[in-house]
Amino acid sequence: MTGRETPQAASRGALTPLRAVLLDVDGTLMSRGQPIPGAVSTLRWLREWGLRMRLLTNIDSRTPETVCRELSAAGLEVEIAEIFTPVVAALRFLEQRPGERCHLLLSAELAARFAAHDAGEGRADHVLVGDCRELAGFAPLDAAFRRLMDGAGLLALQRGRWWQAQDGPSLDTGAFVALLEYASGQTARTFGKPSVDFFEMALADLGCTAAEALVVGDDPENDAGGARAVGAPCVLVRTGKLGTRGVEGDQMAVMVIDSIAALPALLEARRHRRTTATRGLRTGRHPS
Ligand SMILES: [Mg+2]
Repeated sequence: MTGRETPQAASRGALTPLRAVLLDVDGTLMSRGQPIPGAVSTLRWLREWGLRMRLLTNIDSRTPETVCRELSAAGLEVEIAEIFTPVVAALRFLEQRPGERCHLLLSAELAARFAAHDAGEGRADHVLVGDCRELAGFAPLDAAFRRLMDGAGLLALQRGRWWQAQDGPSLDTGAFVALLEYASGQTARTFGKPSVDFFEMALADLGCTAAEALVVGDDPENDAGGARAVGAPCVLVRTGKLGTRGVEGDQMAVMVIDSIAALPALLEARRHRRTTATRGLRTGRHPS
């Protein structure tokens, strides 16, 4: 384990009780459709510790129900209410705007999930872009572009540049969002990580503050960047996007561990520091 944290951050973190964990999925709990060694036991350990959790993932090709079924089938003990994806955030956004309709640029599975908000051939208030792997060439992108030129706003489930597919790096939704932004001159409203709204919505769901939650992920931009933006502590694992790279600049405040398997030991050490620091405060000693 190679933990790094500034002494100030360590002292501050040690004094705040941890109540919840925001866990990334791909590269953190799962890799190539299989649980990462230690993921199953760490989830169980977090529950036994009484921590609440949300699986905060940018998966934008499948419904939260499908994600929950897949994780359960892989042996991870999760509940549907704990799955927090951009699909959840976008559905909440649209449910608050009952008259508004979307032109959908989504996978078939998600198009069915958003059917109640589908503009069909009618006027669209928004173009909603998610995973574009099922797109059949130029025509669907051009149709979406025309809706934007007719006055629709641009909504993006997430704006990742690329993702690690089984056979190599692959274009992610953000590449198509950028294409539509460039052509239309619009800036998309983005639902997924690292959007501050997304993290705040998950924290509100958990009923805790950012300082009481820990973000755990593999992506310096989406996970550590989002955590920093809301003021939550963050742990990065090396089993995904970060790999063996170092962390730089203001990311030095995050902890880096080899994998999710090392999280229980890290949190035990944090609890020990907190107990020691609290005892030190009670007796008037400065926490060491
Ligand atoms: Mg990830």
